[in-house]
Amino acid sequence: MTWLLPRLLLAIGAAFVGFIVGAAVHSATGFEALGLGLGVTSGVALLLVVDAVRGHRLLNWLRGNQQDNAPRDTGLWGELGYRVERAMRDRDRALARGRLELEQFLSAIEASPNGVLMLDAQEHILWCNRVAADHFALDPQRDLQQRITNLVRAPAFVAYLQAGRYGEPLVLGNGRGPGTLSITVREYGEGMRLVLSLDVTERMRNDAMRRDFVANVSHEIRTPLTVLSGFIETLHTLPLTAVERDRVLVLMTQQTQRMQTLVADLLTLAQLEGSPRPASDRWVGLDGLLMRVAADAEALSAGRHALRLRPETHAELAGIESELLSAVANLVTNAVRYTPDGGEVDVAWRLLEDGSGELTVIDTGLGIAREHIPRLTERFYRVDGSRSRETGGTGLGLSIVKHVMQRHGGELLIQSEVGKGSRFRLVFPAARVRQASDSALGDEAAFGGAALSNH
Ligand code: ADP
Repeated sequence: MTWLLPRLLLAIGAAFVGFIVGAAVHSATGFEALGLGLGVTSGVALLLVVDAVRGHRLLNWLRGNQQDNAPRDTGLWGELGYRVERAMRDRDRALARGRLELEQFLSAIEASPNGVLMLDAQEHILWCNRVAADHFALDPQRDLQQRITNLVRAPAFVAYLQAGRYGEPLVLGNGRGPGTLSITVREYGEGMRLVLSLDVTERMRNDAMRRDFVANVSHEIRTPLTVLSGFIETLHTLPLTAVERDRVLVLMTQQTQRMQTLVADLLTLAQLEGSPRPASDRWVGLDGLLMRVAADAEALSAGRHALRLRPETHAELAGIESELLSAVANLVTNAVRYTPDGGEVDVAWRLLEDGSGELTVIDTGLGIAREHIPRLTERFYRVDGSRSRETGGTGLGLSIVKHVMQRHGGELLIQSEVGKGSRFRLVFPAARVRQASDSALGDEAAFGGAALSNH
């Protein structure tokens, strides 16, 4: 009620002015009624003029953008201006808060790895995040208010959206590429719909790989098992001589060993996938490791090849010894297995300029045709299945090598030429290589053939 006192004072002031005017008119003209009339009129007029001026100032402020403060008047108009200004400022603050919350909410949805698309009851796009725009090949600005079914015309999507049965997600090819999307729709508000899209390309690929893997493993195990059960049947039913029995037992042992090797390789792969990254401060002497590999390779070769497998490297590698041993052994035994009698197998080590180290296994064997090289590290991929099995291969060796190298931050590089031989290189990053002496730098022989980097 702070306006009441100034208003009373103003009324008293106006009455006083009216009284003065009335008294002056009365004494000048001698007409009492005229003096009274003019006195009242001038008092009221004064009140009206003051009100008009203040009201005009407030109206002017209201008509503007209200950036500055309302006119700071006393009395009724002052309080009115102040109250209106406060209501406006409160409303502005509430609006700004609401806008900020909306922006935060939208940027949270924008950051979602899933595509989010809001549709009104007529399927017009109200909003979409960048992921959804990418999934559905939309322009997040230009395509707003457009009907989604005019822009995404895949019949399966249109039918799914319009059927209104959203219990199961729709699996759809991606609009921009060969990928696959899983699309879910949720209804909200009055006929509005939220379309959520998820890129499941990787998941589908992994599922397919897993299915292939299980099928391959089953096939690999079934073959020796069938052979074994055939032999067991033979032993049961046929009266064999001692020599025949021995031959059958030797063949059975071979099949059992084949299964053992396969299971061992599968376990190695499973361990590689499930265990943490190798520590970078556990050093393994490369020379000792090569000695062990060479002993096995020499036994496998049984003098059929010229082997040079023990270069003096004086190097140490940081990582897990069993994994490094497995990688190098796989390459060296492959070189022996895929090199005909009389061929050569060499192992060389060199330190590269950037501090990384390269272990190379070179053979003068069968070589590999260019088109097979990119697929060699796939599980169970074999160039020549029968030779691989004959020599005890599982088709998992190079897959294990690639895994080990990835886990150690390195890579496997393959060069090969049919009929000339192959060169498999293990490149270790500088952080995992420690060289005791610089004297053991291997020299790089010129070598033709296709090259592949397996990442
Ligand atoms: P496998 O157990 O069959 O040897 P790997 O994964 O070790 O399986 O090798 C995959 C395929 O790559 C082999 O089947 C073979 O055809 C080819 N391969 C590997 N190493 C050599 C090599 N040194 N020379 C020729 N071919 C090779």
